[in-house]
Amino acid sequence: MTVLLLDSEHAAFLRALAGIIGDKYVRTGADAEPYEQDWRARYRGVAVAVALPGATEEVAAVVRLCGEYRIAIVPQAGNTGLTGGAIVPDGVAGLIVNVSRLNTVHRVDLLNNAMTVGAGCILADMRALADRHDRQFPVLLGSVGSCEIGGLLSTNAGGTGVLRYGNMREQVLGLEVVLPDGRIWNGLKALRKDNTGYDLKQLFIGAEGTLGIVTAAVLKLYPKLSVSATAMVALEGVDQAIALLRELQRVTGARVEQFELMSRGQLQIVLRHGMTGGSPMADDAPWYVLLELADSSPDWDVTDAIETALGAAMENGVIIDAVIASDQAKAERIWNLRHTISESNKREGFTVSNDTSVPISALPEFLDRVTQRLQRLPKAQVAHCGHVGDGNVHVIVIFPYDIGDASVREAAAHEANTIVHQESVACGGSISAEHGIGRMHIDRLPLYVSEVEMDLMRRIKLAIDPQRIMNPDKVLRLG
Ligand SMILES: Cc1cc2nc3c(=O)[nH]c(=O)nc-3n(C[C@H](O)[C@H](O)[C@H](O)COP(=O)(O)OP(=O)(O)OC[C@H]3O[C@@H](n4cnc5c(N)ncnc54)[C@H](O)[C@@H]3O)c2cc1C
Repeated sequence: MTVLLLDSEHAAFLRALAGIIGDKYVRTGADAEPYEQDWRARYRGVAVAVALPGATEEVAAVVRLCGEYRIAIVPQAGNTGLTGGAIVPDGVAGLIVNVSRLNTVHRVDLLNNAMTVGAGCILADMRALADRHDRQFPVLLGSVGSCEIGGLLSTNAGGTGVLRYGNMREQVLGLEVVLPDGRIWNGLKALRKDNTGYDLKQLFIGAEGTLGIVTAAVLKLYPKLSVSATAMVALEGVDQAIALLRELQRVTGARVEQFELMSRGQLQIVLRHGMTGGSPMADDAPWYVLLELADSSPDWDVTDAIETALGAAMENGVIIDAVIASDQAKAERIWNLRHTISESNKREGFTVSNDTSVPISALPEFLDRVTQRLQRLPKAQVAHCGHVGDGNVHVIVIFPYDIGDASVREAAAHEANTIVHQESVACGGSISAEHGIGRMHIDRLPLYVSEVEMDLMRRIKLAIDPQRIMNPDKVLRLG
């Protein structure tokens, strides 16, 4: 395990680190602070330093140096993670290895529909790159302008594209990883089929930096969408949202690109903080769905498809009302309602955001049960948003910032999380659909997965990282 450093060792370590990556790319003191706190300002941990290596070989040399000094490594990319995974834990001498400078696009391979990119490439840039090559990279999250490929892979991120394309794991053809002993595993293959033994890349995807540092990846590209239509729909209940989704998938031949649920309370919070151009609908319906139909074929009449489908849904009493965006600017205004949720909630109060998933059929019962219990918590405001098609509706509990000091807030968060996790697991669900375990849920994981799974995960961790140097006290406690 890692040790706390003496001052003389610290100085020697920093000199050796600067020798590998250059003085300019070693951050300490005030320069390190922006990296030492998570996006929600919920976790903070002082690092031995922040290293910003510029090449895979530099990452490998830094990892070997940390091994010599027995300094823990905390991989970091865009630092938008929501579970404290990229922050140094208390009582650990840890080096943050930030991969943002590994932002080279190595190859765009149109015949293979693939791109090989560094772990520090920002998601928005990758989407724009694909677009310039007449292709699409379909992963889309609210943090699109800051999150990076290394973080997206290590959290197996989801977002609004999962419905049609799957999560980050499903976008990966190959991976390059620096292992905890400093070796480089080059698995940057662009193969669609490869059954040569265990599929090792899958171990590192979603490992939250506990097994190695991802330095580059080969990612899939898809045909570029050429027609799309966006609508906002008001509904009475979640049952109706599921019925609408299934009907749209049936009548459009699975061309539903996005389908996002929002409760009335969530819409009202977003509107209150004024970060969008407003809502095209009144905020008095119990539930809303923001949806997009799209296709790569310019011949598909998407306008007719959306009008016909929503007209029928209204006639059949599945929806209360619908607004179809008549141009791109109006579509963006609708999607802004979704993409400003996290920031609006942060302004509203101390936010406890849950990331559970349940079987889609169990969503109505789960949301009903969990909301009833959460509304009994003092000063709690409950909101919901998320991905109906993945059974991943985020249950959000917001407390006023003046509810109390950090310990009061943590106690409130603990109580809210416990309710959501209990109800989710009771409905056959998971306590983390897309954000991961990180530091936030480390003590909950053993409560909700079997002892066999915990045992296998611990064995894998210790087989790959016997020195326990890679992102300690994240995901698993090893005892
Ligand atoms: C506004 C907002 C909206 C969001 N919406 C969504 C959403 O819809 N869906 C979703 O899934 N997430 C969402 N997130 C969470 C977050 O953006 C994702 O988890 C994202 O994948 C994190 O990427 P990052 O580059 O910021 O990683 P970081 O936060 O830097 O790191 C996340 C984890 O990955 C590890 N890690 C980072 N880089 C590497 C690497 N190169 N090698 C190994 N381990 C590494 C870290 O140690 C940490 O455990 C949202 C966050 C925000 C702020």
